[in-house]
Amino acid sequence: METGKEEIHDSQFNMSGYCFVIGSCVACGVPLNFNPNRVPSIRVNGEREPLCRGCFAQWNTIHRTSKGLEPIALDPQAYSPEPEEAV
Ligand SMILES: [Zn+2]
Repeated sequence: METGKEEIHDSQFNMSGYCFVIGSCVACGVPLNFNPNRVPSIRVNGEREPLCRGCFAQWNTIHRTSKGLEPIALDPQAYSPEPEEAV
């Protein structure tokens, strides 16, 4: 068995060239990978906090469709990595 330095080989953290944030939904707390530029978010204490798909759909129902407004469209890339050059 080798001792000393260990390298972590985890495909989740080996995505050079992409910007991808790992966090959790501010509303329900579900773990979430998201694109910080495209994910739907709400402001909490001045900070933009991400919403998961389910909570975003609920937000749309509460704030949009229940008032007769068109729902806000979810960006198709909201939960996908962003190529680095677009960040
Ligand atoms: Zn949620």
